[in-house]
Amino acid sequence: MRPFLVTHEIFRRPAFGRHHPLATGRQAAVQDLIEVLGWRDPALTRVPELPGRAVLERFHEPEYLSALEQADAAGRATAEMRERYNLGTMECPVFPGLWDRARATVGGSMLAAELVLGGGMAFHPTGGTHHGMPGRASGFCYLNDPAFAVLRLLDGGLARVLHVDLDAHHGDGVEAAFADDPRVYMASLHEDGRWPGTGRPGDTLGGRALNVPVPRGIHDSEYALVLERLVYPFVRRAEPEAIVVLLGADGLAGDPLSGMQLSNDVLWRACRTLAAMAPRAVVLGGGGYNPWTTARLWAGMWGLLAGHDISSELPPSAQTVLAGLDCDLVDDEDRDPAWLTTLADAPNVGPIRPEVGALIAGHPMMRAPSIA
Ligand SMILES: [Zn+2]
Repeated sequence: MRPFLVTHEIFRRPAFGRHHPLATGRQAAVQDLIEVLGWRDPALTRVPELPGRAVLERFHEPEYLSALEQADAAGRATAEMRERYNLGTMECPVFPGLWDRARATVGGSMLAAELVLGGGMAFHPTGGTHHGMPGRASGFCYLNDPAFAVLRLLDGGLARVLHVDLDAHHGDGVEAAFADDPRVYMASLHEDGRWPGTGRPGDTLGGRALNVPVPRGIHDSEYALVLERLVYPFVRRAEPEAIVVLLGADGLAGDPLSGMQLSNDVLWRACRTLAAMAPRAVVLGGGGYNPWTTARLWAGMWGLLAGHDISSELPPSAQTVLAGLDCDLVDDEDRDPAWLTTLADAPNVGPIRPEVGALIAGHPMMRAPSIA
């Protein structure tokens, strides 16, 4: 079945102000790459509605939504908004178009879920704001669109939904959202020792959560082993009717906000394997602070899902898109020339380090593999 691409013009606009790790134009680059590569098929492209307050209040607190709306209208946050809601801070700044952009992100994830209710797959690369809390902005996230994707799937009548988070940071907002909902299973692979510090192996929610904090420097071979030994068995036991994959790009080698060393090859494989483990799949984006590796991951993901060849050198029009990106957080000498000329990384293989073997062998999943 052919996949859907969910996108909106809003996501092309500058966002997050000037000095923010997400002010890189990465989303516009994803759309531009898909366009110039000839991969935008109107028959497969869908544009979301912007949800209103009543929809958003399903998960978010009314007072917080009012503050977000007011800060957007005023173009600034008050001291109280900074204190109570983390709005207008360095982490979660107020910028022009914030309210509409945040709502379009939620609308996109709800639409992606709706599109697959009858079966199939949808990709919404701007989704993945997994740190959003009911009454507070957190970790560059204002609303929590993955939670709305899961809710839409449940509202569609599904009894078991699985959220798998491949971002370098723990999906704390999603885990908190469904901690008490027995219909939702959650897996998160994230870098050990990174913000927000949650997602320990022992946090299992009675068998509904799998948390795997992976060591710094993890490469493709180690990541594939963790998937094979811990994640895929968890997914099989959960028997999900739908799966939501949060394909964060910050675990890729070259990302300034993580120490993980993955190639996009292993993430593409993981995402496609996971999506094939349920009759319905929603794929979202997530973090990703190196705009080159991030845009390549998500444009390439769409290419693969839609059945295009991604192996060859990029045409000049696509190279121009990538050459137009910039990022204060990645030094010139650390920029791989291949980031401008190809989409596919060479796999980053290596020996399995003892700490990875110990992480797998000692994980609670291996000792008590039953699921509630
Ligand atoms: Zn992240």
